[in-house]
Amino acid sequence: MNQINFSDKIIGYQCIKCKREYPFEDMYEGCPKCKLNGKPASVKPIYKGFFDGENWLPFLKPVSLGEARTPLLDVTTEYGKFYIKNEALNPTGSHKDRMSSFVVSMAISKRYKGVVAASSGNAGLSLASYASYTNIPCVIISTDSLNHELASYIKSTGAELVLTKTSLERWELTERYVKDGFLSATNFIDPPVGSQPIGVQAYKLIARECYRQLGYNPNALVVPTSRGDLIWGIYEGYSELKQAKFIEKIPKLFAVEPFERISKVLDGEDYTKHFGGKTNLKSIAGTTVTWQALQAVIESNGYAINITEEDALESQALMSRSGIHLELSSSTVIAATNQIIRDQLVEENDRIVAVTTSSRFTPI
Ligand SMILES: [Zn+2]
Repeated sequence: MNQINFSDKIIGYQCIKCKREYPFEDMYEGCPKCKLNGKPASVKPIYKGFFDGENWLPFLKPVSLGEARTPLLDVTTEYGKFYIKNEALNPTGSHKDRMSSFVVSMAISKRYKGVVAASSGNAGLSLASYASYTNIPCVIISTDSLNHELASYIKSTGAELVLTKTSLERWELTERYVKDGFLSATNFIDPPVGSQPIGVQAYKLIARECYRQLGYNPNALVVPTSRGDLIWGIYEGYSELKQAKFIEKIPKLFAVEPFERISKVLDGEDYTKHFGGKTNLKSIAGTTVTWQALQAVIESNGYAINITEEDALESQALMSRSGIHLELSSSTVIAATNQIIRDQLVEENDRIVAVTTSSRFTPI
């Protein structure tokens, strides 16, 4: 394993809400000031120097199992033509591999004892795989409702899998590992903030990849959203490219959710409350909204799109008939894109990229 070097361009963190700046240290609970005010928000790294299109990343050569540079595919449905950025093609079957690559790289370069994550989905398998590839200790903390097949895959990496009875216990245990010197990929506060901010930076690359693969800037991207790491990372990627005058406009970002959460906040409700709703779309389940998800939608002039399980199942079947096998939460973007075209939420002939986050073959 080559030595992993953390970028010396990162000089601290900045709150994405109040813009306060902080020194570079663990900030699992986001901005302390905003948390104190009862309005939690994530932080993002501050880079010094000028952006040259390539250099605003925490690592030039992160730990890699071959993640990123995923294919961009043409799709035509009865509503029209669009593209799929197929993140299901990452090594463990989901976009989370991009983040795991950065989190494990950070743990190695900053000499943490190991990595830990509270996860009931594919993030656990992803982190465990990257940790085992680099031989660093990994603990995945989940609840006893964890899918058995997924549990056996996680254990097969050699990672320690701890099952708790409740989500709250999961967070308490994660915090204990953090105090013992582990780097956590996930946070542990309610209302939540985004995941580990260096890890989230990995999603910025999706903006550049889409540009390179299409040869131009798309007009809109459709993204399955729960805590909003992915949609925020993509937003950050585009806002940096805009800042550097590489592009003129940030594409509209559409957040896809299984029941109304972001939509309700956009209609005036407080983002720190819990939003009722049940769903089997596990990867985008949850009753909370993060400031980062909200900002990505608002600042890009996008919308939140509500997709039911039934519509997701129909889209999953439709895509399988085209040879593209998507996990259910991931297939929501197909139904959402059809809805966006049908309801004319974009201009005619606008280029839309649906980000399909995970594979049907990875159990969750
Ligand atoms: Zn703040």
